[in-house]
Amino acid sequence: MNSPSQIPHVKLPAGRNYIGGEWLDDAAAERLPVYDPATATVIGDIPGSTPDAVNQAVQAAHAAFVSPAWRDLSPLGRERLIHRLAELVEANAAELAAIETLDNGKPIAIASTVDVPLTAMWLRYMAGWPSKLGGKSIAPALQPAGSHHAYTVRQPVGVVAAIVPWNYPLVLAVWKIAPALAAGCTVVLKPAEATPYSALRLAQLVHEAGFPPGVFNVVLGDGRTGQALVEHPGVAKVSFTGSTATGKRLIATAANDLKRLTLELGGKSPTVILPDADLDIAVPGAAQAVFFNSGQICFAGTRLFVPRNRVDEILDGVSQVARSFKIGAGSEPDTVLGPVVSQRQLDNVLGRVQAGVQAGAEVVMGGGRVDREGYFVEPTILLTRDRSNPVYREEVFGPVLTATPYDDIDELASLANDSEYGLAAHIYTRDLSAAHQLAQKIDAGTIWVNTQLSPDPAIPFGGFKQSGWGRENGEQVFEHYLETKSVIVKIA
Ligand code: ADP
Repeated sequence: MNSPSQIPHVKLPAGRNYIGGEWLDDAAAERLPVYDPATATVIGDIPGSTPDAVNQAVQAAHAAFVSPAWRDLSPLGRERLIHRLAELVEANAAELAAIETLDNGKPIAIASTVDVPLTAMWLRYMAGWPSKLGGKSIAPALQPAGSHHAYTVRQPVGVVAAIVPWNYPLVLAVWKIAPALAAGCTVVLKPAEATPYSALRLAQLVHEAGFPPGVFNVVLGDGRTGQALVEHPGVAKVSFTGSTATGKRLIATAANDLKRLTLELGGKSPTVILPDADLDIAVPGAAQAVFFNSGQICFAGTRLFVPRNRVDEILDGVSQVARSFKIGAGSEPDTVLGPVVSQRQLDNVLGRVQAGVQAGAEVVMGGGRVDREGYFVEPTILLTRDRSNPVYREEVFGPVLTATPYDDIDELASLANDSEYGLAAHIYTRDLSAAHQLAQKIDAGTIWVNTQLSPDPAIPFGGFKQSGWGRENGEQVFEHYLETKSVIVKIA
């Protein structure tokens, strides 16, 4: 029997755009339905915003960018506003978590302990930066000493288009919004069409926090609205998280006027268990790395490499952990595995599993749909010795693990790197030296050793190879939102 829902009833914000501090209808737009993934029922609708609405949002963001209310605000003034927004996120945490669960389907236990707290923490971390983003005084190399005064200033790049996916709607929006605002940019956010509501609630909180109108805007819609935003000449920079296929389209569009572009794309991250690993850590770690958030994490550990003589022991262990996960609606408090986000995603995940099995992968557990309403996929483990199998090579974005045996630890780096992606890797071992050596050799933006899935606002995150361009988080993220200007003055 299903446990009763434990989340508060939430009133979803109306599906309207937030532009220049106002809530606006886009009368010319078609309406796009939004579904509850746990029941496959419609919970609301949003506009598929037209290029006119996009234009209005970019104009509002540009007007705010050059307005004295924002441009002349002191760095500490920006810090105070971002902290105020963090406070409002914390004060409305239960409601935001409930919205995220209803809209995305994720367990309330995840939304309330991961999504919403991380959103507030990212805002707080980034709020500390505005007063520390100054330039440098530099002695010119070619001029007589003391004859010139040269310095750099760092200026906000302009209007930022933040385009985000549906797996962590609020967190990934804030990964972009927080540093952009800290740098003094203005923002037009386009949330994913499947999960628009937390962005709208966030806009209400931005309004309440007292940001000048137009500093933060939200336009709703699908890829067509996103495309119009990327095409808009008033947008100086696009920060995108999503699929590699869409990322490649964005590069083509942004080439037209050389827009700055940050891309956080797909992954097929390895989890490598060395022969000496403590299996009490490695087995639950490997299970978490792939099944958390129903596998809908770009840096999920989806390719598991296990020593050949321990395959049965490790796969039995990972299966046991996966079987212990309660599958259910996100609103049930003890749910660990919720549904995937949409019918499209359900079909996509099941289709990739089927293709993998047809190509020779052996089903260790799962492999199908859970027999209940909503978009539920069984946690799935496939044994694949053949590394050309599509389920081993392609991103699935669901609770699907491939396991591959290895014989020699010297082959691990090349196994881990045998992918077009390079977002993250997990290594489990007791041998610190082996861990550091392997960490050097794996081509991935983040390596976790004896832990998994723990991004941090202070630590750069991003991809090698086709996992993307640029790094988010930490001090490094500001390279994307600031231009450096050099000023050289002859003084003698
Ligand atoms: P998915 O296929 O899982 O929805 P996408 O990468 O297509 O992943 O979507 C991520 C975000 O990119 C969403 O907000 C989506 O609406 C947006 N998007 C999709 N296509 C485009 C496009 N051509 N230009 C800009 N944004 C797009």
